[in-house]
Amino acid sequence: MLGDNTSDQIAESNGTVLVTNGVLVDGTAGDPVPNAGVVIENERITDVGPVEGLDVPDDIEEIDVGGQTIMPGLVEAHTHMSQYKELNPVKGKFRAFTFDNTIEYNALKAAENLEKMLATGATTIRDMAGRDLLPMSLRDAVEDGTIVGPRVNPTGPMITSTGGSDDNREAFRADENLSNGREANGKAGIVREVREMFKAGATHVKLEGTGSWLSAFSGPHTQTLSQAEMEAAVEEAHRKDMTVAIHAQGNEAIKAAARAGVDTIEHGNFADEEALRLIEENGSKLNPTLTPFNEFAKNAETCDLTEQHLADLEADRKASEKSFQLALEMDTPMFLGADSYPPLGLHEGGTAREARYWVEYGADPKFTIEHATRESAKALERDDEIGTLETGKYGDLLVVDGRPHEDIDDLRPEQMSIVMKGGTVVKRRDTAA
Ligand SMILES: [Zn+2]
Repeated sequence: MLGDNTSDQIAESNGTVLVTNGVLVDGTAGDPVPNAGVVIENERITDVGPVEGLDVPDDIEEIDVGGQTIMPGLVEAHTHMSQYKELNPVKGKFRAFTFDNTIEYNALKAAENLEKMLATGATTIRDMAGRDLLPMSLRDAVEDGTIVGPRVNPTGPMITSTGGSDDNREAFRADENLSNGREANGKAGIVREVREMFKAGATHVKLEGTGSWLSAFSGPHTQTLSQAEMEAAVEEAHRKDMTVAIHAQGNEAIKAAARAGVDTIEHGNFADEEALRLIEENGSKLNPTLTPFNEFAKNAETCDLTEQHLADLEADRKASEKSFQLALEMDTPMFLGADSYPPLGLHEGGTAREARYWVEYGADPKFTIEHATRESAKALERDDEIGTLETGKYGDLLVVDGRPHEDIDDLRPEQMSIVMKGGTVVKRRDTAA
């Protein structure tokens, strides 16, 4: 099991190290390389490949991984760090979507979540909306060393139309700024919110293009933003060098988003052949998030689901499985993010669980790993610095006890022997070689 001596390990190797004697799965489409190593100097990879050909500086610290697998750190492309599942000790119920806690408490829980996610292999995350400007603060606190965590790509609250997916104003509380959504309507209203996100330091904006399963007002098939509103967001965000992600489950919203040039389609559960073709033609990418439909049913009690809910859920899960398999067949550009949020369980290990669903639905394990690393890095537009183990990129890597590229179960948190961020060991399993 993972050790709890993280702080003792933080300084280990200090950004310059040789990781050697492993099976290298570098995140590119190439074959695994036996007896390989990675040289990292000042946080960046300076050489990688078969051990005998490596250019190794004198006196470099060496970590011999004894034949375990060396792979890139996971790039978890869809998470919500300021949401969590926990029994409220005072009120005796789960704190989740209801936000019956303070934003300050959320911040502390988010810091805890970040450390756990890093320790279980996510060296970069994209936060897909949180309360107010909390995700930007998390990014800054990690970067200045205040807290330990993955590299954070943040956005603020989701931009939702009135009655859209994350309009929680009347459903939960009057103060919209304390929910995960910010209401905006019409092109001017949307552009204003995009500019607010830019001002606050977001790397991307998140639009709510349909309702969702737990929305108060609109369901997953209801389109909640017009194509013109989506286009306005894309034009403004791209002008500010930010990407645009959209929550889009129903088919019509997916098509509108692809036509509007939205960079990443999140969920896309009911995409048909035409929608998948439009995604590819317009340069969008799909993140299928297989976790929620699968995990809601397992948390039926917590989620207060009735028999009818469960039947509807299973029908939607089946439809999304078919759509994912069609995307595999059509070679639709995809990447991987679990959408780990309450009440679907803890953040740590969420990426591995999502990867398992990909494989269960028919994806190859090595292909899946490449989508949780290289392709996710591309979706974040950070593939010049993370996502594969190649010269010039950050030394963000995992030493895995097993062969996750052959058996995806080996990606589980329990199998992580070493997690390294920028050439520094941030977690070492007690039993590591
Ligand atoms: Zn989400």
